[in-house]
Amino acid sequence: MNTRGLPGMLAPRYQELQLRNTVCAATALTCATQALSASSVASIQPASGPHFALVSFAHVPRDVTCYRPMPPIEDAGHARQLYSLAFDGLVVYSSFAAITPRCSMTQRLQGRVAIVTGAASGIGESIARRFVADGAQLVAADIQDTRGQALVSSLGGEASFRHCDVSSESDISDLVAHAVKRFGRVDVMINNAGSVGPTGPIESVDTAAFDATLGVLLRSVFLGIKHVAPIMKRQGSGSIVSTASVAGLRTGLGPHTYSAAKAAVIHLTRSVAMELGESGVRVNCICPGAIATPIFGKAFGLDPEAADRAVPLMKQVLATAQPLRRAGLPEDIANAAAWLASDESSFVNGHALVVDGGVTGGRMWSEVLQRREMLQVAMNNLA
Ligand code: NAD
Repeated sequence: MNTRGLPGMLAPRYQELQLRNTVCAATALTCATQALSASSVASIQPASGPHFALVSFAHVPRDVTCYRPMPPIEDAGHARQLYSLAFDGLVVYSSFAAITPRCSMTQRLQGRVAIVTGAASGIGESIARRFVADGAQLVAADIQDTRGQALVSSLGGEASFRHCDVSSESDISDLVAHAVKRFGRVDVMINNAGSVGPTGPIESVDTAAFDATLGVLLRSVFLGIKHVAPIMKRQGSGSIVSTASVAGLRTGLGPHTYSAAKAAVIHLTRSVAMELGESGVRVNCICPGAIATPIFGKAFGLDPEAADRAVPLMKQVLATAQPLRRAGLPEDIANAAAWLASDESSFVNGHALVVDGGVTGGRMWSEVLQRREMLQVAMNNLA
């Protein structure tokens, strides 16, 4: 049991009790367990008193930020309300204390079957965690098998992992077939896997690397859409979301090959949305700005572990890259993906949703001021 974030005096008092299909022997917790989805709850630990409950979600809790007094659980409605306060981790509930993480959680994807590519790291991992927390049945895919397997183990329940190179048609076709075999349908397809590819001046870009990068960034999205389209058309519903980039909207925000591929992802999204929309299937993409993930370290040649260690540095570096003075986080994109995957966006189709802290809005105010001050000095010298 993970007790990180718990007040030290409380942690040892909990005894583990496995939750099985929302049946829990502790009567004091019955209303809570009825309100909770078995797929998103790893275990429930009752403590001494009727109003003590530690609900530990299926994955490792992070960023527990808020401690607050709460009344006893009264009924299922109240438990549901508490549940909606918790996201990505942990609720500790007692007659006097609750710990809720930073984001709010809903069951907006309850019963939906979702495929997420590039789920072993960064944005894809965050989307995978968020979707399971929101009630989705998940098939995670990546070329990093060990990390992918570790992810689904931490999520528990109804998540599974498939090795998949997204540039390979047979891998994508097998991935989609696996989801259908296991869950009978596909409601959400997240085409997210990616890497930066070649950088540097155009004459230095290796042609084979250009082709390979288009394979990972563009062919992959085409294949993902192509192979879920017949299933979603038959269902008469579905949401396809691809991770594009602000580099596909503006120049100077990524290398040439990467930017061209992401621009193509945005336009492929718009084009296919016109077709699939007529079958009740929505096709959208997200254009993240600068998001602190291992992708930056990898672009500098680091292996995945070293690239993980570079993320705190990137958080610092990216904090001033946009008007909002913090780096973008994978959770910012997971929030957008959860919305686009859910019925809350049911009238949104063919859209490129920019989540960038304002980086594509134009020149930053502080830069404008700085230029103005420099010009003022120059003018003063002429006066
Ligand atoms: P990341 O490196 O943390 O994660 C990328 C994941 O994709 C990794 O798990 C990697 O193993 C997987 N992957 C790479 N090639 C693959 C392949 N051929 N088949 C299957 N999986 C493969 O990077 P991230 O920042 O989370 O990137 C996710 C997506 O977001 C990418 O498409 C990226 O272009 C896009 N994006 C990222 C940012 C950013 O600032 N981080 C900004 C805009 C767009």
